[in-house]
Amino acid sequence: MSRYQVQVTETYAPGAERPWSVTNRVLAVESGPCLAPVLVRLGRLRTRIACGRRLPLDKQCRNCCPRIVVTEVRRITA
Ligand SMILES: [Zn+2]
Repeated sequence: MSRYQVQVTETYAPGAERPWSVTNRVLAVESGPCLAPVLVRLGRLRTRIACGRRLPLDKQCRNCCPRIVVTEVRRITA
């Protein structure tokens, strides 16, 4: 599983309910090699690439499927 640790910063105008700016910062990424590489053909060339680069999210292997963990949410009024 690819795990992305993300820090979210939300900037609010005074008295506003919704932020006018949201910044996502990736703090760390943990991942392993693809468990089910996909064969790709281009003319005579054949190569295997990670399924995360080719398949939709629900068909990706355990290692390629991203998992986002929000570690911290900062709320700033500016
Ligand atoms: Zn994969």
